Amino acid sequence: MSARFRVVIIGAGYAGVMAANRLAGSKQLSESVRVTVVNPVADFIERIRLHEVAAGSRTSAAVPMGTVLNQRADLIEDTAVKIDPINRRVHFSSGRAPLSYDALLYSVGSTQAATAPVGAYGVANAESAAHLQTRLSKLEEGARVSIIGGGLTSIELSAEIAEKYPGLQVRLISRGAVADTLSASGRHAVRRRLAALGVEMMDNTGVQTCDKWSIRTSGGDTLPSDCTIWAAGFGVPALARDSGLPTDAEGRLVVDESLSCPQYPDIFGAGDAVRIPDSVAGHLRMSCAAALPLGAHAADSIIARLRNQAPAPVSAGFVVKCISLGRHSGLIQTVTADDRPRSLVVRGRLGGMAKEQICRMTLGWIRGELRRSGSYKWAKGPLPTAAG
Ligand SMILES: Cc1cc2nc3c(=O)[nH]c(=O)nc-3n(C[C@H](O)[C@H](O)[C@H](O)COP(=O)(O)OP(=O)(O)OC[C@H]3O[C@@H](n4cnc5c(N)ncnc54)[C@H](O)[C@@H]3O)c2cc1C
Repeated sequence: MSARFRVVIIGAGYAGVMAANRLAGSKQLSESVRVTVVNPVADFIERIRLHEVAAGSRTSAAVPMGTVLNQRADLIEDTAVKIDPINRRVHFSSGRAPLSYDALLYSVGSTQAATAPVGAYGVANAESAAHLQTRLSKLEEGARVSIIGGGLTSIELSAEIAEKYPGLQVRLISRGAVADTLSASGRHAVRRRLAALGVEMMDNTGVQTCDKWSIRTSGGDTLPSDCTIWAAGFGVPALARDSGLPTDAEGRLVVDESLSCPQYPDIFGAGDAVRIPDSVAGHLRMSCAAALPLGAHAADSIIARLRNQAPAPVSAGFVVKCISLGRHSGLIQTVTADDRPRSLVVRGRLGGMAKEQICRMTLGWIRGELRRSGSYKWAKGPLPTAAG
């Protein structure tokens, strides 16, 4: 019997687990492929719920890996510290023997941004969300909480904290205008809800530094702040860069339109940690809404490679932006495939219920792929314009 084709997936988040399920459950590949997933912990972290953990609305975002990952995929609980693309091996922080691969999927997700002021709290991963939760629970009535960022994560976080801790003074500080990627009615609904929760919104204000008790704006003002939280974008792990793989300025692994790395065609990438050409992914933002289709497509590209076929370019687009505004309200903003807001929004309690359903559906899609490989379908990206 010929040796099995070894696929190693680094990172068991939305992209990695989706890809693992598609590959490990594929009937056509059957016994010919061995899938090994590397992740620091044996839980799947529902990152899209970390603002709930940070505010104390839920105790954990961890889901046992066995309930989302195909049991035919092996799980190694460890952290990859180096990828050796010449000898096709992965090295680990624990010092265990390096793991050889025939194809590698790089899906390590994102982390707290390097641009975040030193001393700021964050919600990028389970540890930082738990750390923030501890800090918030110790603040006294009237203490000031400053959240930096005007995008979806910072809006969700400020609403969650303001609702859970009505005694705190919550302030949302945005370099541009809060919620400026939404339609006029969506923006209005979000701002009205935040104001009703007592969140102070400071538009057009950059933050330069912070310490334990204050923040300094780029305009030179010093504002009191007992807890400052960075939620204005994520960075990525340094693994690709540290391994000498081709990366962009932010450290994202550079892949081609089919999600394979041009210099090392055995290496594929999906999710927040990769840089895909603008021709097919210029509209994609870091999101689980993008990570799921990218993970599925990366698996399809690996399958194509195995069959000596040319992998297809990826096509993925958005349908909605969905925002929780505390536990009882939310906003669904319909968008074009390239993420521009349409006029239709669903707001209030109904918006909150829809958002919760969508959060549940993300796990539902991953588990659907576990039950039947190839079952996950997604919205395609925008059609290329005539101008190219
Ligand atoms: C509070 C919050 C709310 C959000 N809300 C939404 C939302 O409503 N909608 C939406 O679309 N997106 C949302 N996002 C963004 C979304 O969570 C991410 O874009 C998504 O998780 C990216 O998926 P991924 O598979 O690329 O990476 P991740 O889900 O981050 O998974 C990466 C995995 O790789 C592991 N890993 C990292 N380094 C290594 C290593 N060296 N070795 C082994 N394993 C490693 C990590 O531990 C992790 O398990 C939110 C994010 C946050 C923080």
